[in-house]
Amino acid sequence: MEQLKKILSNIDGKGYKAYKELQGKSFKYTDFELHFFHIQGDPFASPSRLMVSVPQTKAGFPQESYSPKIRETALADYLTRVFYSNIGCTSKGSRGSGKSGTFHIERPGQEVLERTSARINESCIEVRFFAGMPAAGRRILGRQAQQMLLEELPEVVNRSLTYANLSVEELFNHIYRVEDQETLRRQLPLKSLVAFVADGSILPRRSGIDQRPLDKSKAVPFQSPPELAVEFERPNGEPIRGMGIPDGVTLIVGGGYHGKSTLLRALERGIYNHRPGDGREGVVANPAAIKIRAEDGRRVEKVDISPFISNLPFGQQTVSFSSEEASGSTSQAANIIEALEAGAQVLLIDEDTSATNFMIRDSRMQQLVSSEKEPITPFIDKVRQLNRELDISSILVIGGAGDYFDIADTVLMMEEYRPREVTAEAREIASRNPGKREAEGGETFGKINARLPQPGSFNPRRGRKVKIKAQGVEGLQFGKENIDLHYVEQIVEPAQTRAIGDMVHFALRKEHINGWHTLKEVITLLDQIVDEQGLEVFSPDPLRPNGDYARPRQLELAAAVNRLRSLLVHVGKND
Ligand code: ADP
Ligand code: MG
Repeated sequence: MEQLKKILSNIDGKGYKAYKELQGKSFKYTDFELHFFHIQGDPFASPSRLMVSVPQTKAGFPQESYSPKIRETALADYLTRVFYSNIGCTSKGSRGSGKSGTFHIERPGQEVLERTSARINESCIEVRFFAGMPAAGRRILGRQAQQMLLEELPEVVNRSLTYANLSVEELFNHIYRVEDQETLRRQLPLKSLVAFVADGSILPRRSGIDQRPLDKSKAVPFQSPPELAVEFERPNGEPIRGMGIPDGVTLIVGGGYHGKSTLLRALERGIYNHRPGDGREGVVANPAAIKIRAEDGRRVEKVDISPFISNLPFGQQTVSFSSEEASGSTSQAANIIEALEAGAQVLLIDEDTSATNFMIRDSRMQQLVSSEKEPITPFIDKVRQLNRELDISSILVIGGAGDYFDIADTVLMMEEYRPREVTAEAREIASRNPGKREAEGGETFGKINARLPQPGSFNPRRGRKVKIKAQGVEGLQFGKENIDLHYVEQIVEPAQTRAIGDMVHFALRKEHINGWHTLKEVITLLDQIVDEQGLEVFSPDPLRPNGDYARPRQLELAAAVNRLRSLLVHVGKND
């Protein structure tokens, strides 16, 4: 500490580059060590990357708070939140140019993700964060740096990373609730369910740009219809009761504005665990559930969309379909096939964000436009085949197309935000008014091809430098390409986008993407590496591990690769 103090007074008033002296150095404080991984080049550049490491002899976290693995994930998430709020209390705002004098740590959202901001084991706790090294213009403010690093930081560390200074009740509540959700999700298949929504859940959010729960006074709590009610044991609490959504094809029907999309959106996020108080801590879905939507304008590279689309104008084939600008229906078809290729098990589809002609073609339209003239086989004719042949379940929000009654296993009706089970009613209506449309598109769905990404089609560089940069949850700059992730709706944090970028780069560097591995093999391998070595391993410099990654699923990794406009693949066959 004395040494750091001395360096900071020596470089006071010097040019900003003098801070570089700290890079790679570590300093012993009374209760922890501070490491300088990277020092920014100037006060306006991305802030410097630091890490504190607190030995368990000082931190004192009991083993049951970080073992098994899911508890470590929960605790790391919790400590990141506490650290975030404590730097908010301490930092006195900017102290000079640019980000001078401010601490920063990647702020977690409503989801509890596996993240690299904190790591806990039996010997120590590590927290990785950022600091804007203070300067006026380009002149070092040594005294401010001392205040920041020698006075404020120890205070933040002491308040955030010492077990004795934390609310044990809140901490364990966080851990227990996360573990409960994880266990719940794993139990779904035992009851042949694809999703579960606990009674009392608060599904609506505060606004389109605010993921916190809608105020309790305005929200109608979720209540399972008796026919679908199930109960699960929880490792850390009373059994939990709610609505189980069975395998197969489920329709969510109901009038406009009665809460259909809100339910589906909660299910989309049910692949993740939520923080206590989110309102969706009791909402879990099959971890391989994926939102499917239309995405016109996207590029598609050699996807076999022939189950849905054939006979395009001018003889364009669809067995290996490529497009620089897919239409609504072809993009939705490609999104489904790509999802299946990447291992999806449940499709979540909302009519609000689907191409109408992809979802349905009614009998009158069938009569006017004969099926030889219509390239599209609508989803309604494929959804049962998907279930029968590939064991894919679907949950569909359908407000307008009663023809879907014919193919549903379960029909749920939302009425003033309350679900009713109306399967029998829907069946009865269907048999009283038999559908006049003809089934289209053949007897089987067919196999899903494997595609082999060609390494030459990825270039992480712009000019000579590697340029990989997350643009929030909406995009990823990869070299000269901008990958549009707007419609990949299950990426919930920029930290996931960042991880995806560096994981793809890693797969290129290590030649996992080598032209003879399939995309599925590549994403499976990357996922396995996370399991075995942690996300840090994808840091451009593994000796200075990044603190701002959060774990993406294989499905989102594949989605990003599939949206790289330069992507080229060879098509292989799956057995
Ligand atoms: P739909 O898809 O059926 O048209 P939405 O799911 O979009 O309806 O919901 C319509 C509105 O109702 C949204 O503003 C949403 O936030 C709100 N809402 C949804 N569920 C609830 C609920 N359980 N309690 C209160 N408001 C809700
Ligand atoms: Mg809707």
